[in-house]
Amino acid sequence: MQGPLGVRRVLTNGGYIDSDVRDVAAAIRLAEDMQHVIDAPIMATIAINSTLLRTEPDALVDILGGARVAVGLALGNAGDPLAAKSTVGSLIRVLALGNVEPRRVDLSGIGALAFGAPGAAIGTTATLRHIYPMQNGGYAPSPYPSILVEKSLTWKTQDRVMDAAAVYDDDAFWLCECDTCFGRRIDHALRFQADIVAHNFGVIARIARRVLGSSDPVATWIQMCAAAQSYSYEIDSSGPNWEPQGFLGAWWANQPTRVGA
Ligand SMILES: [Zn+2]
Repeated sequence: MQGPLGVRRVLTNGGYIDSDVRDVAAAIRLAEDMQHVIDAPIMATIAINSTLLRTEPDALVDILGGARVAVGLALGNAGDPLAAKSTVGSLIRVLALGNVEPRRVDLSGIGALAFGAPGAAIGTTATLRHIYPMQNGGYAPSPYPSILVEKSLTWKTQDRVMDAAAVYDDDAFWLCECDTCFGRRIDHALRFQADIVAHNFGVIARIARRVLGSSDPVATWIQMCAAAQSYSYEIDSSGPNWEPQGFLGAWWANQPTRVGA
C-alpha cells in the first residue's frame, strides 16, 4: 500500500488487458472505489493491448472520459504500439479528454504532452518504453546500450551508431548540444554507459523543451516527426539500416487539418 508511506499519488495496478474493454471499465471502478478510502489522489494505471485503441476507440473514450480518477495508460505491443495511423488517431482522442497520461511510452510521450496529456512517463530503456506481451517469448536485449539520436528521434544501440556514423558522415546529423556531448559528435563523445545515460536524459529534455516551449506544440511535434522521418530515409539509403520508426509517420499522418490551408 503506497498511501501511508506519504506518497503524493497512489498508482493502482490494473494488470494487462489484452482484448476485453469491459476489463478497462472494471479497473477504473476499482480505482474509484479505492479513492473513497485513501487520502492521496489515485491514478488508475492500466496497461492495454494497443490494438484496443483501434478496435474500441469509442468505448475507451467513454470509459476513460467518465473516470473520476486520473488515468495512466500503458500500451502493449510486440513492436511499436504507435506505429499505426489509426492507433495514434484514437490516442489523440483519448488525450483530448485531459485526464489520461501515457505511462512507459517512447518519445511519443512528448507528442502526447503536445496534444494535451497532463503528464507522461517516458522510459529510457527498451523494457521500460513498452509493455512486451509475454506470450511472444520474452525480449532479448542487446548487450550494447541504446543511444537516443536526436535528429532521427530514434534509439539505436551503440554499435549501430558507430557503424552508421562511419558511413553517413554528415556532421550536422551527429553533433549534439547536450551537457554531456558539448557540441561534439555523439559517436566521438559517447563511449561509456554513464555518459550515454546522461546524454539520453538530456536529449529527452531538449526535445520536450523544444516542443512544449514553442507557440504551437502540436505543429512543432509533427514537424519534428516529419524531419526525423526524412533524415532516417536519407541515412537508410546511404547504407546503414536506419528505417524510420513507425510512430513518426503515424503522428505526421494525424496532423490537424487547417481551415483555409
Ligand atoms: Zn549528447
